[in-house]
Amino acid sequence: MVKSLIPVQSPGDSADPKCMGRIVELAPEAFVERLLARGQRRAWIRTDPQSGRVRASTPVLEELADYVEGQTDPERRHEAVFLGVGLETRALFGVFVHRTQRGQAQGGVRHWPYPTMASFLRDGLRLSRGMSRKCALADLWWGGGKALISRLPGDGWRDTDVRRKIYAELGDFVSSLCGVYVTAEDVGTTPLDMVEVHRHTRFATCLPTEIGGSGNPSLMTARGVVCAMEGALDFLERGSLRGAKVVMEGAGNVGACMIDELLERGVREIVATEICEERTAALQDRYADRPVRVMRVEPGDHRILAEPCDVLAPNALGGVLGPKTVPDVQARVVCGAANNALSDETRDARLLAERGILFVPDFLANRMGIVACSNEQYGSVPGDPDLARHLGRDWPGSVYNRTREVLARARAEGTTPVAAANAMADRKSDELHPIFGDRARRIIEGLVSEGWERG
Ligand code: NAD
Repeated sequence: MVKSLIPVQSPGDSADPKCMGRIVELAPEAFVERLLARGQRRAWIRTDPQSGRVRASTPVLEELADYVEGQTDPERRHEAVFLGVGLETRALFGVFVHRTQRGQAQGGVRHWPYPTMASFLRDGLRLSRGMSRKCALADLWWGGGKALISRLPGDGWRDTDVRRKIYAELGDFVSSLCGVYVTAEDVGTTPLDMVEVHRHTRFATCLPTEIGGSGNPSLMTARGVVCAMEGALDFLERGSLRGAKVVMEGAGNVGACMIDELLERGVREIVATEICEERTAALQDRYADRPVRVMRVEPGDHRILAEPCDVLAPNALGGVLGPKTVPDVQARVVCGAANNALSDETRDARLLAERGILFVPDFLANRMGIVACSNEQYGSVPGDPDLARHLGRDWPGSVYNRTREVLARARAEGTTPVAAANAMADRKSDELHPIFGDRARRIIEGLVSEGWERG
């Protein structure tokens, strides 16, 4: 049995609603204590379908509802946010459901340290909205969602037993939501963690092949990004990748697969940076007689972004392109796997456009991770045509064709590719699932009317 990792109520702490103070400024673990002190383990925040206002399951949490309302676009508010506390670990879970017209909300679970409830909510709202857009632009019949686990303070979360318990509790939490959200792997979560989640809920994808899942999606993601690069170069009438120079920051799971894909397409040169020493050495070894240069850099060293090239691929972490880095970028096209490569998507998309650099929105280029696991419950087929069409050129919704379509719209409308992709994705995310219509919304109604928060 895992002992509680956080002391119960601290002396002087009061459960009196008047003493709640600014809840959004509380650390997640302090919020958990406040909730438990009120005898609650669950809470919801949702957009009322009649009034369009954001409401909380209990008046004392209206401040959180107001915060969510302030963070979201009145036209496209999140349908619901569900908060829950792990029975034994006291970890805080959040499930963010953005739009479900296209189907159940789908998105990975991020296990990350959050200093405040505001940062927790902001990240979940932003990431789940991104998932709605990614699924819609890929023509998947999935809505957009995300789960967060706020990392427990200290090192306890690293302990194997604690970790197993956290993911078991997350699985139970996801099960309690009756399928409105389907989870998957994301930053901070491993395939082993997903196996534990799957023991506790059927609403999980991106599972290992040994238990019937689609396995590691990195190769598919890399292939998709390369198709997007080709779409962008064709759009610029710069031909194919043959003879091109490609630069990448980060050569991890996706980056390494991308190197192979690019070499197959006859690129002239690849330059990559990596912060991991072992990985750098392994890649240098593997590509010793190929036109591939892998360099080890310190974290925070982003000079690679200034390397002259045809295509720059941010393949490590998000937020690397901003006012400090964009002025030095020497690429014609920026197209990579990293989610949210721009630190501010509106401002930085404009900065790149002003410099004549074509930016392919990451949620357009890196869709194949979610595509790979989206049909998992329908079984697997060799050379699966439902996956292959995303990587081809016949289907209008393929990565290549959609990239060209988005770039053409941006040019025609005098806007940035990010704005064009967002507008297209938002329109598509209003389309109703052809079979299940608004079933996911009815699940939310059911949870609310049946007092899910009291469970
Ligand atoms: P990964 O962790 O395997 O690879 C990232 C690599 O970047 C690591 O090897 C890391 O050492 C390196 N790195 C980190 N900071 C760096 C820096 N400043 N400079 C150089 N190298 C740095 O992750 P991944 O699965 O390859 O995913 C890469 C990115 O793509 C992530 O942002 C991920 O969220 C996104 N993504 C991945 C998938 C997928 O299928 N794996 C799908 C969609 C999006």
